Amino acid sequence: MEQYELLWQYQQVDMELEKYEREMRANANRKELLKHRDFLLEQQGVLKKIETDVENMGDRMEALADEIERLSASVNEAAAAFEQHRPEDLEEARKQIAAMEKLIATISRYETELAKARKDADARDRQQREVRVRSAKARAEFDRIKLIYDEEYKQAKVTLEQLQSKVAEAAKGIEPELLEKYKAIKRHSTPPITRIHDGRCGGCNMQLPSAEMSRVRDGAIFVECENCGRIILVK
Ligand SMILES: [Zn+2]
Repeated sequence: MEQYELLWQYQQVDMELEKYEREMRANANRKELLKHRDFLLEQQGVLKKIETDVENMGDRMEALADEIERLSASVNEAAAAFEQHRPEDLEEARKQIAAMEKLIATISRYETELAKARKDADARDRQQREVRVRSAKARAEFDRIKLIYDEEYKQAKVTLEQLQSKVAEAAKGIEPELLEKYKAIKRHSTPPITRIHDGRCGGCNMQLPSAEMSRVRDGAIFVECENCGRIILVK
């Protein structure tokens, strides 16, 4: 049989296979599974972010607690020194008191920050628990649907393999270069082979230029569409 007619027949089964693959991808349970998978991945990311936050907050809280302890010791020392060596004059007394007040103000600022950090850490804990509960629910739903989908897929795969072997069978006898060309066209225009209709490309409906039309009149088996690149069978 003529190469281009073989290729035309090949295209029929190839398109049938493509349609079936599309249907498989559109399977409702498959889509649900992908949705749950994406959600689970997203939640993993959220958990990781919370863990990093908690770690950083823990470091900060530790540093604040240390600093508060250190400053408190300084205040105690300053107070003891003030008691033991009474300042000579009012000016000196004011200076020492001001220094202590400054320390106390810093301690109070750190304590406020520490209290806020503790509250944030509690909130993160709650958030973490919520994410875990949500993830466990999604995971259970994923597993439930997966069982159903696996069964559907097993059945669909039988048909898929039948179609695949039909395509492989149809490819026999077609020159490899021609098959490659078909696949190359298919990447941008599908189906790659069409027929001529009223002097137009059956794929994109573009009027064939007069040079191509005269090749058709001279008995060419096919021409190529300069617009969409498809092979246009003449007969
Ligand atoms: Zn075209």
